[in-house]
Amino acid sequence: MYAGISADPIGDLSLHMSERLYYSDSFLRTFTGAVTDIRELTGSNGELIWQLALDRTTFYPTSGGQPFDTGQLSALSLDGTALNVPVEQVEEDEQGEVWHFVPKPLVAGTLVEGLIDWERRFDHMQQHTGQHLLSAVFWRELQAPTISFHLGENTSTIDLASEPLTHQSLERVERIANEIIGEDRHVTTRDMPRSEAEAMLAAGQLRKLPDRQGTIRVIDIADYDKNACGGTHVRSTGQIGGLQVRTVERVSRGVRVEFVCGLRAVRAARADFAILRETSALLSTGATELAPAVRRLLTEGKANARERQKLRYELAVLQAAKLAMEEPIENGLRLVVRSWSDRDRDYVKLLASRTAIAAPQTAVIFCANDADPARVFVARSSDLDFNCGQILREALARVGLRGGGSPDLAQGEVPAEQEVALRASVSEAICRAMAEAHKQQ
Ligand SMILES: [Zn+2]
Repeated sequence: MYAGISADPIGDLSLHMSERLYYSDSFLRTFTGAVTDIRELTGSNGELIWQLALDRTTFYPTSGGQPFDTGQLSALSLDGTALNVPVEQVEEDEQGEVWHFVPKPLVAGTLVEGLIDWERRFDHMQQHTGQHLLSAVFWRELQAPTISFHLGENTSTIDLASEPLTHQSLERVERIANEIIGEDRHVTTRDMPRSEAEAMLAAGQLRKLPDRQGTIRVIDIADYDKNACGGTHVRSTGQIGGLQVRTVERVSRGVRVEFVCGLRAVRAARADFAILRETSALLSTGATELAPAVRRLLTEGKANARERQKLRYELAVLQAAKLAMEEPIENGLRLVVRSWSDRDRDYVKLLASRTAIAAPQTAVIFCANDADPARVFVARSSDLDFNCGQILREALARVGLRGGGSPDLAQGEVPAEQEVALRASVSEAICRAMAEAHKQQ
């Protein structure tokens, strides 16, 4: 533990909740305070983590959809040495205490200087104030109330209790939000008794009021929106920097709208542009011509697929006739046995059924061994009356495998090294079935 500090310089701190300095100044980046309490716990990887409570803090704990701040605490020792401790996470408990997660312990009473990661915080303030504005525009323009908010790593979302939104109304909401950003309206905060907030809500001057008792903190976007909130906000709408609506999807309770503000909007537009540029280069066309170009490609692709199917069929018919013709009839049976490693399974199956009907007295055992296990097909012409499904099922069962099919076409899979043996076993079974039939006649 770090203990170069005179203990308890400001009385019994454990009785007090942390004073949240960001309530009165969300632009405060540094502060001095004292450790009032410390808790030790084990992290998910077995490492020790300490949680510190301070008498005052400007670190924002995760709440109201806004993530926590990160930063650093510097312990100020009397002997001139300093200890810097990173703040990796900040959470509040049910009693309202703010806990700073740190990888090194500091004893209660230690004086610290806190510094928050300003880039992270300002980004959160932009997204969060942008959310107030976007929710306000949805409420005023479409009477769609916001029921939840999530500020994510890359984008944020609000859920609206609303019917699906049209493109036109989304674009209008986005444009109005950006006009208000351009107007650079003041964003102010005022604490008031709950009774006053309730009166404002009843008069339609307050968009939303949470259940909590006591003092209510109201965020006011000048002449546009008032909403109760405990988060951190920019000073004027201009500082939101711009707002871009991204995707919209239906969720169980309504509609989820994804949006980005400030530099996130610039990054999102830049990433979109990179995709457009790459795709345009691939298709040798301008970005505005991409949709018709892709549509043309899809149409061509479908026509090509249809043509390919037709040609495959014609090829199978021709190849089947040739295969049947090449094979002599012995004992009343033309048995065609072949294996292909350069044809796909669908084609070999088509070829098997076409060869079986290309000429009478024909049976085929075809294998597609383009992959292991190989696929084996057994088929016969309609004038023969043995059962392909039964023959293949029994041949596979003898080596512990499964497969089968109808009397005139059957298929199964066999490990590549067993393919030759299986073909021989099925050939024998077919010849035996033919001999049986001959005897009975
Ligand atoms: Zn807020």
